[in-house]
Order: sequence, then C-alpha cells, then structure tokens
Amino acid sequence: KTPVPSDTMTWRSCSPKPITQLAREIGLLSTEVDVSGKTKAKVQLDVIKRLQNHPDGKYVVVTGITPTPLGEGKRTIALGLAQALGAHLNLNALTCVRQPTHGLDFGIRGGAIGGGYSQAIPMEEVNLHLSGDIQAVTAASRLVADAVEACLFYESKQTDRDLYDRLVPLNEGQRKFSPIQLRRLKRLEIEKTDPATLTDEEMTRFARLDIEPEASIWGRGLDTKNHGQSPMEKRWTRTVPVASEIMAILSLANGLEDMRQRLAKIVVTTNRSGKPITTEDLGISGVLAVLLRDAIKPNLIQTLEGTPVLVHTSPFADIAHGNPSVLADKIALKLVGPAGFVVTEAGYGADIGLEKFFNIKCRSSGLRPQVVVLVVTVHGLKLHGGGPMVVAGQPHPKEYKEESIPLLEKGCSHLRRQVQNCRAFGIPVVVAVNAFKTDTNAELDLVCRHGKLAGAFDAVRCSPWAEGGAGAVELGEAVQQAAEEPSQFRFLYDAELPITDKIRTVAMEMYGADDVELLPEARRKVDLYTERGYANLPICMAKTPLSLSHDPERKGVPTGFVLPIQDIGVNVGAGYLYPLVNVMDRSTLVPSKSHLPDSQVQSWHQLHNSP
Ligand code: ADP
Repeated sequence: KTPVPSDTMTWRSCSPKPITQLAREIGLLSTEVDVSGKTKAKVQLDVIKRLQNHPDGKYVVVTGITPTPLGEGKRTIALGLAQALGAHLNLNALTCVRQPTHGLDFGIRGGAIGGGYSQAIPMEEVNLHLSGDIQAVTAASRLVADAVEACLFYESKQTDRDLYDRLVPLNEGQRKFSPIQLRRLKRLEIEKTDPATLTDEEMTRFARLDIEPEASIWGRGLDTKNHGQSPMEKRWTRTVPVASEIMAILSLANGLEDMRQRLAKIVVTTNRSGKPITTEDLGISGVLAVLLRDAIKPNLIQTLEGTPVLVHTSPFADIAHGNPSVLADKIALKLVGPAGFVVTEAGYGADIGLEKFFNIKCRSSGLRPQVVVLVVTVHGLKLHGGGPMVVAGQPHPKEYKEESIPLLEKGCSHLRRQVQNCRAFGIPVVVAVNAFKTDTNAELDLVCRHGKLAGAFDAVRCSPWAEGGAGAVELGEAVQQAAEEPSQFRFLYDAELPITDKIRTVAMEMYGADDVELLPEARRKVDLYTERGYANLPICMAKTPLSLSHDPERKGVPTGFVLPIQDIGVNVGAGYLYPLVNVMDRSTLVPSKSHLPDSQVQSWHQLHNSP
C-alpha cells in the first residue's frame, strides 16, 4: 500500500463540495445558513424551531482510554465513523467536534481535526480562526474584567454605592500574555503609573499564573497565598478563552435566551462584605450576549469524503466539560432524522470527558445517547501496562514498534476499567481499536477479546486514518446494531446530593479512589456554596487527564489512593462546581532541563498540552 501522505497534502488534493451544496444535501434551507467563502457556513438556530416536531437521530458519543503521548485518535475515529456511516453505509451521518485551539501547539500533533484519510476540512481554517468564535469569547471575557476595573475607577461617581463601593478588584495583567508565555511565568506584579492619585492598594495588581487547567495538567499545586483575590475573581484575569466560563456557557446553552440568562448569572467578583456580584449587577450581561450572537451558531464544514461536520465551541476538559456544543448536537440530531446518526466527541479519557458529557452536558441538554464508542490503541495499552514513557522528537521505544503480548495483556486491565466506566451509564459500549501500522493481528485480536470480556456490546478494529470511511465500516455496523439494543440510561449521581457526596461518587466510581480528602479551602467552599444555594450543581472535576488517579505518572489502574481536593470553584452561569484536584509537583512530571536539551523539553510540553 502507498503510504498515507501528510494531513495537509491529503486535504489539499481533494476537492470539497461547495458548502451551499452540502447544506442543501443535509436539509438546510438557504435562509438557515450564513455562508462564508466556499467551504464553511454558520448554521442559524432557527432550524431547531422549524424541525422541532421531527424525531431525533441516533446519538453516539466517542470517548477514549486515558490518553498517552502516543495519541489515541478519538477525533480521527469520530470523523472516520461518520464517513463510514454516511459515505459507505448510505445513512445520514453528521459529526460534531470541538474547535481546536491554536496557539498551544500550532498543529504540532497533526491537523488536530482528525488525520490521514479521516479529516475534517479545510484543516487550516479550522486550526486558525474559522469563524472567529474563540475571539468572540476572548472579547467577552475581557469585557467582564474591564467592567470591574471601570467600576472601580468610576466608583466615586456611582449612585448605587451599595453595589460598587468597595468592590473587590480583579488583578489584571495575565490577559495581556499568550498561554505559551504564561507557562513560563509564575507571578507578575504590575504597577500603575499615577502614584499621585492612586492609593498603595490601587497602585499594584498581582497576576497569579496558577490557572487551573494548567495546574491540573501539570500537577502543579495551587499557590494558596491570597494576594487579595479569591479563585472566583482570579478566573477573569485569564486569557485562555477555552478555560473561561463564557466558553462553557456557549457550549452548554440550549438557545439564545438560555445563553443570555446564563451569562447574566456569572458571578464575577464579590464586594468586600462578600456579596456575589454578577454580570447583571454590572449591567453588561446583554452586551456579552450581543458579542456572542454569531459565535452561538455552529460552523458547518465537511470531511474528506463529503459528510457534514459541525465544529462548535472549545471548552477545556478539566475546568470545563470538554465537549462540543449542545446546540450543534441538537441541530445535528434533527437534520439526520430518525434513521441517521450523530457522532459527537468527548475530550480526554472516559473517566473525564465522558463522565462530564453525561453528568453535565446531557443533564443540561436533556439528550440521551444510544451508544458509547470507546477508542483504544495497542500502543496506549502497552504504556498503561508498564511500557516506557516516550519523549517527543526521539524514536519510540521498541515495545511500541514490535509485538509484545505480555505488556499488552497487562495494559488490558486499563481497558477493562474504562469499559466499566462507560457501562456505568447504562448504555451499550462499542470498543473501537484504532489500528496503527505497527500493530500485529495477534495484538489487535487480543484487545478486541478483552473489550468484549469487559462487557462491551462489541469490539472491532478499524483503520479510518489509513483507509478513510472504508476502514471503519465494521465499526459503523457494530454501532448500528448497538443503537438498536435496549438501554437504561442513568446519571452517576443525583444533583441534589451534598457536594462532597457527589465528588466522592465521581472519585470512587470513575477513578477507583478509596475516598476523597477535602483540604481546608475546599471544605470552606463546600460550606460557602451550600449557603449561597449552589449545592445542587453538578460536578466538573479539574483533574490530570494523564492518569485515572491524581498522579499523572501512575498509569494502568491505580489503586489505594485518596483523592485530595485542594479547592472548589463555581461557574454559576455554566452551571457546575469545579473541584480542583491537588496533584503532584510539576517538577516530578516534566523531564528536567538538566538531562534533556531545551528543544525536547519544549516538545514534551507541546505534546501534553493540547486540550
Ligand atoms: P484525540 O482526539 O484522541 O486527541 P486525534 O484524533 O486528534 O486524537 O489524533 C491524534 C493524532 O494521531 C493525529 O495527528 C492523528 O492524525 C494521529 N492518528 C490517529 N489515528 C492514527 C492511526 N491509526 N495511525 C497514525 N496516526 C494516527
């Protein structure tokens, strides 16, 4: 077989359908699309209203094992599965994916929107601005931070002194730096220029750079020194739009009005007597909604085989829920009709992205999927079975290039655990073994066998990366059959349970923890949030994605650990509490500069830091 060309060469050599033609083919009226160029369009939300009495299609969610630096290919499989269903099995099929965030890795891991012959196109546009949705979220987040600063600046002129007098300031500065720069900084002190008119307190602003998504990825403990800020306030000084509550709201909103109401509920800061101040109090919630009025519409593009794809929103999978938008899924389910399929993705491993898909996203949308697809790779399981860590830029150790049944057998315990996690929601599970060219038949068969033994409805190998939709036909058929199976959907926990019980349930049922330990700040937040009436919100754990436990170095199925919860944040508008799982010190995770050249440390960072 001829080798698979680079992602860029592959998509440039194909001729995409005009986007107006694709829109027509999938049943959109010309008035329901805002076309931009030849290959992308925004879909108007009116389509949901027009089709409100039409039955939904089958809803399939794609998740994976705990990710490894070798790459598992969830998005590649999600796109390949829809190519198989749509272009080879003659069904209506639509994939919903998050928009990848540029900046962190600039495509170093490949196109970030699938790969090989299983890609969404135009890849370059998707990886750059697409329709400017991420920029709109950035603008909205900045407006919030600026509104507080403006209130402080003009507070003497305000008539509503109860609200504005002695508002706790946000500490700005961080938003002026790119995420890459932030990685290297810990704390900034910014001095204002006008000592004559400013008090000491007004003169300086501290920007603490312990943003939670990074803390959870890197295992950096949060600095508990409080420079006049609570975590609630700090988050508005972040630049990373994918980590912002506004992105989570955009992703979870059920419509324009719902988005507006959620934006109005965002708690921005407090006044000095501790009263929460919302965007509504600041008078900016309407403006925020206006800033996001186009970003709320999903973006229509296509796969290499001309099947439709909705790319929409990019919430992180730790401090946020890590799934494409509710609205994209809802529109897609109406468009494909009752015999069609919508394939949506969930970030990170099943213990994180899938758990949040059900407990946060489905709870909010009311949608219930028919099938879970769990993506697994031979090399990933070998790493979970005790195989050596890989370093970007260096040749992979031989364990990943040659057959190694004993290592794989050991790693299959991780597969069994993740199948169990998927089954916890009462929906049939299909294991998709993403075949790489180094995998042997014996290895692929072994993984399929373990998948079925663990209770999956089916386990099949597939190769959409190398063969496009044709390489995922068997997977498509398995998904079709699984969708006909009876299922008994259940949430993992009742949202009405006390906060600590919900955290404990996720930790024990999904991660295999013996218990949780709430550190003093987390305990204080439990009391505070219960008093403020936030206790019935679902839980969004900010935990390292690199292990089922809180220690990224523990692969496989870690046991005998108690999950430490450092602090808890709340996104009242998005509608969840986010416990910050305390993790190991960063220095234990990153190869130190003393034994690795700079370029390699950098690549290692890049490899591990895409959302
Ligand atoms: P995830 O969604 O799990 O992060 P992606 O689908 O983005 O993973 O895939 C990660 C990278 O691995 C991409 O560059 C993709 O092209 C590549 N990839 C996925 N599957 C295969 C495969 N079977 N063979 C070779 N490369 C693959």
